[in-house]
Amino acid sequence: METDLLSRLRTLNWRLSPQRRVVAEVFAGDHVHLTAEEVHDLARDRLPEISRATVYNTLNELVAMGELLEVDVVDGPKRYDPNVGAEHDHLVCDKCHAIRDVPRSERPPTIPHGARAGYRVTTVEVTYHGLCPACAAGHSES
Ligand SMILES: [Zn+2]
Ligand SMILES: [Zn+2]
Repeated sequence: METDLLSRLRTLNWRLSPQRRVVAEVFAGDHVHLTAEEVHDLARDRLPEISRATVYNTLNELVAMGELLEVDVVDGPKRYDPNVGAEHDHLVCDKCHAIRDVPRSERPPTIPHGARAGYRVTTVEVTYHGLCPACAAGHSES
């Protein structure tokens, strides 16, 4: 069982100001993939005076520390992903843009040697597109 972002930060001796704590708390629980705006909205529910700049700076710092991943698998602003422990791919709903983590397949797709244009491939990321159950059932708002 991997630990969540807040517990990881506690073990790192990172100075947990109230602002940093609420940003970390937003990512607790089920693995979520939030935009910076969503993080700001959720953080403001807990700490109304937290500024957008503080949220952005904290997110950038956490990315630089390797405690958040930047995920760019749907249209619009990039998402922040606290699931840095296990390499994983993403399942994306093309309608509501919900993102789920899925375990990385053991044998990633490979490009035939002749099609690599001389590149040495170092990483492979797979994004699965489709409709989530709610959208497939027509229950989505949008
Ligand atoms: Zn959906
Ligand atoms: Zn993820």
